[in-house]
Amino acid sequence: MPTIDLRAVILLAGAMGALMAVVTWFMRRSYPRSIDGLGQWSAGQAIIFLSTLLFGTRGWLPDLVTVVGANLLLISGVTLLYLGSMRFFRVPAMPQRWAAAIAAVTAVTAWFTFAQPNYNARLLAIAGFMAIVCGAHALLMARRGGSSFSARFVLVVLVVEVLVLVLRAVSAFSGEAADLLAASPIQTVYIAAYTVAMLMLSVGLVLLAADRLRDELEHIASHDPLTGVLNRRAILDVCGQELERGRRKDRICSLLMLDLDHFKAINDSYGHQAGDRLLVDFVARVAAQLRRPDQFGRFGGEEFIALLPETTLEEAMLVAERIRAEIARDTSQIGCTVSIGVAASVPGEGGIDTLLGRADETLYRAKAAGRNCVKAMT
Ligand code: GH3
Ligand code: MG
Ligand code: MG
Repeated sequence: MPTIDLRAVILLAGAMGALMAVVTWFMRRSYPRSIDGLGQWSAGQAIIFLSTLLFGTRGWLPDLVTVVGANLLLISGVTLLYLGSMRFFRVPAMPQRWAAAIAAVTAVTAWFTFAQPNYNARLLAIAGFMAIVCGAHALLMARRGGSSFSARFVLVVLVVEVLVLVLRAVSAFSGEAADLLAASPIQTVYIAAYTVAMLMLSVGLVLLAADRLRDELEHIASHDPLTGVLNRRAILDVCGQELERGRRKDRICSLLMLDLDHFKAINDSYGHQAGDRLLVDFVARVAAQLRRPDQFGRFGGEEFIALLPETTLEEAMLVAERIRAEIARDTSQIGCTVSIGVAASVPGEGGIDTLLGRADETLYRAKAAGRNCVKAMT
């Protein structure tokens, strides 16, 4: 095996880690506060970078700095990355316990540096502790990360990292490499794999934050901020997709168009904020009447749309009547009623605009019939 200058590898990886720390730090500044954990990730990456600087000066500076100090920084940095992920997933962490564990491992490292110098014993303690932290981190990622590419990527990197650490800890028993920078094959593989894994971990965490940002923006772009249901564009998209699916599979669906009665008068009498609260309450009560596959969205103002897949006009009318009765049941001093127009798709008929037009027409009939009622296109 060609000899690799391990000092250069450690310093190079450290420099790349430092760049990732800067990137993560800028992300923390520019990303919304709801994306938490970036501060710890950035600090962890920076601390790991400092540790590589100290490791890289092994033999040039006192052991207290390049052995005890470097390892203290390394395990603190790796732990901070884990604590950052816990914040990211909003899992309660116990930093004091981890700090105590880090202090204990550092004491062991100091003992095997000065009282009873033994590189392999130190390695066992450090690699063992790091394997535990990375293992816990991997477990967190598996449980909370979901199926996104970034979470899977971080998980794989962490699992590889744990394997490398465990192999290295076990190989310490063979008593082979007696020094950090001894370019034995196992030490070369260990340092190279470890440094690449750390870098990939930083990349993965940045991807994870970017994914979260995209999810949040998508949610904002598709949901109504007041009531939390789909907004006009999103519910119309969903309706269009359902109609298309229905056309291919020869299935029908039904659409309810709901409009609160005399809502302007409610605003005028009780104020706009009371009107807002009423809209939120209305949405919760309607949603409770719908089934899982049904989709509900705000068409605009006090008008809403419910899409009921694989539902006939008759079935949809029963649902609409249930909703009307529920809303008419007075639960607060501000009474409110709803008028509902129902229309079902006709296989082979036009798209969403046709269906919407018919639902709108039936809603108009419900209004004309005195409000607080359900009308359907028959
Ligand atoms: P109709 O029974 O014919 O539907 O009468 P209406 O008063 O409900 O209908 P109109 O279209 O005249 O008025 C709708 C009102 O809904 C006017 C508008 O101020 C109110 N509105 C629309 N969006 C909101 C909102 O987000 N919050 C509040 N509080 N009011 C809203
Ligand atoms: Mg209205
Ligand atoms: Mg209206």
